[in-house]
Amino acid sequence: MMKTISEVGEIREFCKELKKQGKTIALVPTMGFLHKGHISLIKKAKTLADIVIVSRFVNPTQFAPNEDLDAYPNDRERDFQATSEAGVDILFEPVKEAMYFENHGTWVEVPELAKGLCGQTRPIHFRGVCTIVTKLFNLIMPDYAVFGEKDYQQLTIIRRMVRDLNMNVEIVAGEIIREEDGLAMSSRNAYLTKEERSLAPFIRKGLLLLAEKAKNGEHCAKNLYAVFAHFIQEHIPSARIDYVTMVDKDELVELETLKDSAVVAVAVYLGKARLLDNILIESK
Ligand code: AMP
Repeated sequence: MMKTISEVGEIREFCKELKKQGKTIALVPTMGFLHKGHISLIKKAKTLADIVIVSRFVNPTQFAPNEDLDAYPNDRERDFQATSEAGVDILFEPVKEAMYFENHGTWVEVPELAKGLCGQTRPIHFRGVCTIVTKLFNLIMPDYAVFGEKDYQQLTIIRRMVRDLNMNVEIVAGEIIREEDGLAMSSRNAYLTKEERSLAPFIRKGLLLLAEKAKNGEHCAKNLYAVFAHFIQEHIPSARIDYVTMVDKDELVELETLKDSAVVAVAVYLGKARLLDNILIESK
């Protein structure tokens, strides 16, 4: 049976005990409102370690004051059901007061990787992410932690943080899980109206078109961006592109020209949602 823990002291003691027994632990950090993307990470975690822990915490420090912290979707009952069914061993669901002291003043940052892409419109976001993930690692001491490729910049930053700070955890990536029509699953898809939801798959379609053009010889980033922008304008005129950027896979540096391969990451505002997606493209 799945155990739920909300106290910081309790999770620390429980994990310490598991370690003493020689058990390995895989952690899947989430903000709840779980979907099949999260479940696929849990399935992966189960192949890696004896014990799977899912954290469910909407981390306030990664939201700016004008963002959707208060509106973030939440369904505790459904998350409990989904994690139980997926075979999770421990659901860690702390309250904000348990995770942050009132005068919290320590931050973990990877500024070089956090300044582009989402960092341009969300300058404090990744500092919040790195700090909460570090706190979870310190409490749980997982052998593995699984993160989704949907949040490609986040995954890259976490990998770099772990390497730079010699954290004793292996970061494992899970592929992007999509709806049947191609839309990347996201808790924030819940913000979409019915009409917006029907148009949202064009984001993925635009990326596929861009990838095809790249394969057929268009290697100039600006031209590839234009392909995506025109496609979105044509199919979802109400959407606004936050960014479409071609970057080096590891360093996230923007590339002017495609050499062998690169990641194209996008963020698109559609109604109340800001949707992310990305694709690995190749020059031939
Ligand atoms: P979130 O609850 O949105 O903070 O996401 C928790 C974890 O699930 C992160 O590592 C995300 O990258 C991952 N994730 C979210 N959506 C997907 C998806 N569609 N496919 C795979 N992983 C995902």
